[in-house]
This record gives sequence, structure tokens and C-alpha cells, in this order.
Amino acid sequence: MKIAFFGECMIELSGLPLQRTFGGDTLNTALYLSRLGASRGLTVSYATALGTDNISQDMLGAWHAEGIETHMVKKLENKLPGIYLVETEPNGERHFHYWRNDSAAKFYFSELWSPLEQAIDNHRFDALYISGVSLAILAEEAKAVLITLLEKHKANGGMILFDNNFRPQLWTSKQAQYWYSQALPFADIALLTEQDEYAVWGKSDIVKRCQDIGCPEVVIKRGCEPCKVVSGLQSDYPDTVYVAANMVENVVDTCAAGDSFAAGYLAGRLSGSSETAAAELGHCLASIVIQYPGAIIPSEAMKELM
Ligand code: ADP
Repeated sequence: MKIAFFGECMIELSGLPLQRTFGGDTLNTALYLSRLGASRGLTVSYATALGTDNISQDMLGAWHAEGIETHMVKKLENKLPGIYLVETEPNGERHFHYWRNDSAAKFYFSELWSPLEQAIDNHRFDALYISGVSLAILAEEAKAVLITLLEKHKANGGMILFDNNFRPQLWTSKQAQYWYSQALPFADIALLTEQDEYAVWGKSDIVKRCQDIGCPEVVIKRGCEPCKVVSGLQSDYPDTVYVAANMVENVVDTCAAGDSFAAGYLAGRLSGSSETAAAELGHCLASIVIQYPGAIIPSEAMKELM
């Protein structure tokens, strides 16, 4: 099974002296799914836009080294990847500062030709994963193009996977409500962080909203609390399970907790596991990831899951 991701990966600067790494919600999930998927018959490709600079080239090299296909990456002259700085206060609290308003990924759909659309036309992958951030970074017309691609892929018999990942710096909750309502009717699996849903919609019934909009399977991530998985939402008998998170005594950095959970859940579900087993894999990977600094942990640290 082939899974394509669309989103933005940025240059990450963190630590003192500053270290340069890469990160971005969809890339984090793609990378972890690539690691978990190799032994489960899953392959991963990442669609985004980068520049023609050396750092963009380094990113491509890093993704290849993780087994991620990059045929759908556009290289735009005169554009660069976005960048963010992680500032850590003496008490350990972290602040993220972004420079991404003019980043290459924003312009992926700015010409008519898009490798993602071509790949959809040619049935080159089975599932397409996007997040709230994938939509948020795009101009309004480009958001609409992405939604038409979800519709097209779905009409071709493909699967759509959606993670809500709400970033209030990128858009208002009203805008997010509108575009989430455009994307969710196509989603086969929605991975929703409870806090993000409340930030977008206010405290409300998440499952009912998914059911009403046509989504059949929803996973509600709730930090260290059990996640709630509801499947068969479009049938007469939806099934709900709560799956306990793994206990972690020493949480080092929760960066990419939700992204890695999503990778684990999808690695399970897309290779035929039950919702419960998939959520257990998601929790297990996330519990390892939060015991390391940064979004991407060394692959040796998750060897037993691969
Ligand atoms: P997000 O990172 O998207 O905000 P959550 O905070 O809900 O999402 O975390 C995603 C997953 O990470 C959880 O479902 C759980 O598996 C794991 N996780 C997060 N925080 C903890 C914690 N304190 N202890 C154990 N697991 C955690």
C-alpha cells in the first residue's frame, strides 16, 4: 500500500549552540510511518515544495535516507523552505518562532501543474494524508485546489487520512471551521487532538460532528488520557473503544507526540490491524518519542516496533 503526504517541512533551529534539523507535522508522521511501514508492506511519499538551495537538497537527502519517496516534490527557484526557532527558557518551557510566510511549500499549487494531481490521475498511490497545517499554509485558492484533489482521489477509490493539527498562528478558528468542514467529508480516518478540536469548534460533541459530516472512523487523541476510537460511524452500529496511553514517568519533550501517534495508528490500520491494536501501536511509539528531545528520535530507539 502506498501512502502520499502533502504538507510542509521546515528547517528547525534549536539548542545552544543552534543546531539545524528538519521538522513539520506531516513530515514527522511520514517519516515515522516510513520506518514502521517498511516491514508492514507500506511505502510513503512526501509532496511539498522546496527551493533549489543546498538546504533543500539536504532535506531531500534526509528523506531518502528514511525511505521516503520524493517524486512529488516541486523545486521552486527563488523560494526557500520555511524556518522555525525553538527557544527554551531556563525553566524548560519552549517557544516556537516561525518564518514561513513566503516558504516554498505555500506555492505548491501556484502553477496549474502539480505532481500530486498527476499522481492522483495516474493512480500512483492508495491513501492521501493531509493535516490542518497542510491547508492552513496555503492561500485560499490553493486550499480549494487541495480540496478538489481530495475529492478526486476519493472518487478514484482512494483513501483520505486527516489530522486536525490546529495552529492558531496560521488562521482563525472560523477559517479552520470552514476548511475542516470541506476536508472531513472525504476522510476515511480522522485523527483529532481533542484540545485542537475544542480550540476550533469550542467544547462540543466531536464524534457527532464527524458522524454528521460523513466520516466513518475517528480517533480522538487526549494526551496521557486514553484515546477514544469510534469506527463504523456511518453504519447503524458504531463501535467505540478507549485505549489507555502508555505510562511515561519522565516526559522530556512532547513535540511530535500526536504526529508519531498518527504514524503508529496508521501503520496498524493500513496493514490490517484492529482499531485497538493500532491505537496501542500509536501510544507505544508516541510514548517513546516523548522521552527524547526534538520531533525525530533515532531509529534505534524504536527498533522493537519496526
Ligand atoms: P498532540 O501532540 O497532537 O497535541 P496529544 O497531546 O493528545 O496530541 O498526544 C498524542 C499522543 O501522545 C497521545 O495519544 C499519547 O499516546 C501520547 N502522549 C502525549 N502525552 C503523553 C503523556 N504525558 N504520557 C503518555 N503518553 C502521552
